[in-house]
Amino acid sequence: MSLVKEIQRTLDTVETLNAQLNAFISIERGHAEAKAQELDRLAERGPLNGMAIAVKDNICTKGMPTTCGSRILGNYHAQYDATAVAKLQEAGGIVVGKTNMDEFAMGSSNESSAFGPAKNPWDLERVPGGSSGGSAAAVAAGMVPVALGSETGGSVRQPASLCGIVGLKPTYGRISRFGLVAFASSLDNIGIFGREVKDVAGVLKSIAGRDPKDSTSADVPVPDYPGVLEDSLDGKIIGIPRSLLGEGLDDEIRTSVLAAAERFASMGARLIDIDLPHVRYGIAVYYIIATAEASSNLARYDGVRYGFRAEEAEELRQMYMKTREEGFGPEVKRRIMLGTYVLSSGYYDAYYAKAQKVRALIKQDHINAFERCDAILTPTSPSTAFRLGERSDDPLAMYLSDIYTVSANLAGVPAISIPCGLSSDGLPIGVQLTCDFWQESTVLNLAHKYQTEFPLEAKPSVFAGDPG
Ligand code: GLN
Repeated sequence: MSLVKEIQRTLDTVETLNAQLNAFISIERGHAEAKAQELDRLAERGPLNGMAIAVKDNICTKGMPTTCGSRILGNYHAQYDATAVAKLQEAGGIVVGKTNMDEFAMGSSNESSAFGPAKNPWDLERVPGGSSGGSAAAVAAGMVPVALGSETGGSVRQPASLCGIVGLKPTYGRISRFGLVAFASSLDNIGIFGREVKDVAGVLKSIAGRDPKDSTSADVPVPDYPGVLEDSLDGKIIGIPRSLLGEGLDDEIRTSVLAAAERFASMGARLIDIDLPHVRYGIAVYYIIATAEASSNLARYDGVRYGFRAEEAEELRQMYMKTREEGFGPEVKRRIMLGTYVLSSGYYDAYYAKAQKVRALIKQDHINAFERCDAILTPTSPSTAFRLGERSDDPLAMYLSDIYTVSANLAGVPAISIPCGLSSDGLPIGVQLTCDFWQESTVLNLAHKYQTEFPLEAKPSVFAGDPG
């Protein structure tokens, strides 16, 4: 079958399922068909071989909307492709659309999107997680095999866990952030979703590496990730921080994650106990640093430079205020206010400077741990997918969704979530593996071996079958 036909079939599926899932904000049929036609004419389609890819709507794509799930960018079209998107296309990937997300990637449920929430394909009454909920739902439902998301504090791993798929957050600096709309620049990363670890490895290989357009992208060699997936796990050491598995963690998740650890042991890994003494301050530190950086990054949305502008303002300052009042939703406003507060002169030392110090301690905890083990194993999320609306009025409960994920962003190390079982009510549970800086190969090797030996056989209730 020609690639054009395959892509048309994929797009039909995407359109049909999207009516239930609201996973996409825009579906790019014209663009995808044209790209497929181009690839059909080539003798060599590149390593991604025409793979259909969904892209989170805070990653710039030339000629398509990039809304960030916000009214303030509701009519914004980027003039250029993010480096990750350009590289995907060079490798033979085809962007089929832009996915739903929490507004400016702030959230853990996709409910703060100005375009309505995406739904979890396992149970349409439940959230897919966030903030990259649309990408996670699209992959879980079989609309596309892989998708890009973004991570500031867990926004790829947590929705991957809640949707029963694989979600990778690479080392800070591994993938260029050029064209990723900034939320909290020292924490932001592009991440990758897939149903299969091997697809995630292939995409990572295609998009990783130094980019002159992003000075924080690192000049570290990019290994052949697909080539390491079958390496033996003999002698690998997995550290378990048992003190983090206590209060607040759902019992079924604890049991399932500890069983996953035993399965790694059965494949040749050795389990040891480790301690990450400062990780329990992660949420507090994250919500100071992330909001501080967000308050600065989001100052650019003033009605002059991008997107939406409020009407009927009599003078300039009023236009700024009305634009921001009408353009941003409540969660974004809360973050801007919190961030402005922690950076204000009277509170800077007490909050922001203190948080930076504790962040350094959290990073050091990881450096110490990786002297003793190759990977740290924890749950990804303290609960399975919750009901739509269940946490919307309680920001603190929502923020606690990220308790196991934020420390990898604060430390800058790579981590993955893979499915490890189902709860008694049939919802997916994810286990998280975190490795040392630049050790994505180890992350992917462990995850792939686990997935091949212990695949999650169950499928969500909304599922298309494997496209193509
Ligand atoms: N849920 C976290 C937050 O709301 C993480 C978001 C993210 O990783 N983009 O900030």
